[in-house]
Amino acid sequence: MKDAARPETHPDKPDWHDETAVLHGDSWLSSDASVVPPIHYSATFKANSAEEFADMANTPRHPNFYTRYGNPVHKRVEAILADLEGTETALLTASGMGAISTTILALVSRGDHVIAQRRHYMSTSRLFEEVLPRFGVESTIVDQTDLEAMAAAIKPNTRLIMVETPVNPTLSLTDLRAVAALAKPKDIITVADNTFASPLNQKPHALGIDIVLHSATKYFGGHHDITAGAVCCSQAHAEKIWDMHTTLGSVLSPMDAWLLLRGLRTLSLRIERINANTLALAQWLEAQPQIERVFYPGLESHPQHALALKQMRGFGAVIAFSVKGGFDATSRFVSSLRLATHAVSLGGVETLAVHTAAMWAGTMTEAQMKTAGIEPNFVRMSVGVEHIDDLKSDLDQALNQPG
Ligand SMILES: *Cc1c(COP(=O)(O)O)cnc(C)c1O
Repeated sequence: MKDAARPETHPDKPDWHDETAVLHGDSWLSSDASVVPPIHYSATFKANSAEEFADMANTPRHPNFYTRYGNPVHKRVEAILADLEGTETALLTASGMGAISTTILALVSRGDHVIAQRRHYMSTSRLFEEVLPRFGVESTIVDQTDLEAMAAAIKPNTRLIMVETPVNPTLSLTDLRAVAALAKPKDIITVADNTFASPLNQKPHALGIDIVLHSATKYFGGHHDITAGAVCCSQAHAEKIWDMHTTLGSVLSPMDAWLLLRGLRTLSLRIERINANTLALAQWLEAQPQIERVFYPGLESHPQHALALKQMRGFGAVIAFSVKGGFDATSRFVSSLRLATHAVSLGGVETLAVHTAAMWAGTMTEAQMKTAGIEPNFVRMSVGVEHIDDLKSDLDQALNQPG
C-alpha cells in the first residue's frame, strides 16, 4: 500500500480497454494474496512510527490515515473510474449530489459567476439557482442546445460552466466539444455530469471537459442497492475538491465502496446489453399506435441524433415517451406494468419506469412542469438487462389495458 498513497495510475500499467480496466484497473493496488480485495472496515489506520504518522497525516488523499480522508477500497474504485474517464484521478463520495455539491463549492467563491443549463438533475438545478446565489455566486441559466446563448452568457468573472448530457425529461444533448472550446481560451472550468451516458458510452474529458461527475448510484453500482458519487478530474482539481470533501464529509462507507467495486466488474457487460435492449425497445415503442412520441438519442427521430453519433458510442438506458390519452391513460399504463418496476433511478439491472408528472405533482405546479418540459403523459423508463421479448410483452400488455 505504501506506493499507493496517491491514486495516480501506476506507471507500468498497460493502457487497457474499458472492458479490461473494470476488472484489472485496480490490481496494481494489491496488498495481499486475496483475489477479491478485502473490505477495509476501519475508520482509522495505525502508523508504525512518528515519521510514518506525520507522513500519513500530511499526505493529501492518503488511503489509510482516516476514512473521511480516504480508504483503500475507495482507492481501488477511484483507480478504475479515472481509467474509464481518462482523467488523472478520481474521488469517491457518498452520493451523486455529494460529488456535485462538493465539486462546485470547492471551486467557486463569492463574486464568481457560473453558467448552468435550464435542465439539470433537479437537485443540481437547486444548487445553481437557489444555493449558490445565497453565497454571492451569480448563476446564468441557458438552454443547453443554444451555444450562442452560452457564449453570450460568459462574463469576465465566469469561473465555471456546468453541463449535463443527456438530460431529463426529453434526453436533450449538450455539445461537449463546443462547450469546451468556448471555455478553454477563457480559463473557465467545465464540469459535466456524465451519469446518464456512463464512460462506456461517452467520455467528456476526451472531448475537452475538465471535470466529469457521476451518480455512481446508477450504472456504476448497477444494482439499485447503494448510493455513491464520483468526481473524475486532474490531480490539482482533486486536491482542491478533496479539501472541501474533508469539510463537507460526503464519505462513502467502505462496505458501499466495496459493493460499488463489485458492481463495476460487470459494467461493460451490463452497458452492452442495456444499450442493445434500450435501442430495440425505443424502436418498438415508436411503432406502437398508443405512443405519441419517443425520446432517445439513439433514434433517428431525436432532434440531436447527429450530435449523439458524434459524441456517444452508445445511448444508455434512459428512454422517455408520451402515451396517447393524457395523464390518466399514462397513469393506467404505468400501474399496469408487471415486469418493469414502478420506481425512480436508472442504470441498474432491473427495468424501472415512472410517470414523470406524477413524480413531481407534489413539489411542482403544472406551470412549473410545463417550463421544465414535463408533459402530463411522459413516462421515463430505465431499461435493464432482462430479455428484450419479455420487456416488449410487458409494455404491450400495459398499453392494451382497457381504460
Ligand atoms: C441520480 C442523479 C444524480 C444524483 O445522484 P445521487 O446518487 O442520487 O445523489 C445526479 N445527476 C444525475 C444525472 C442523476 O441521475
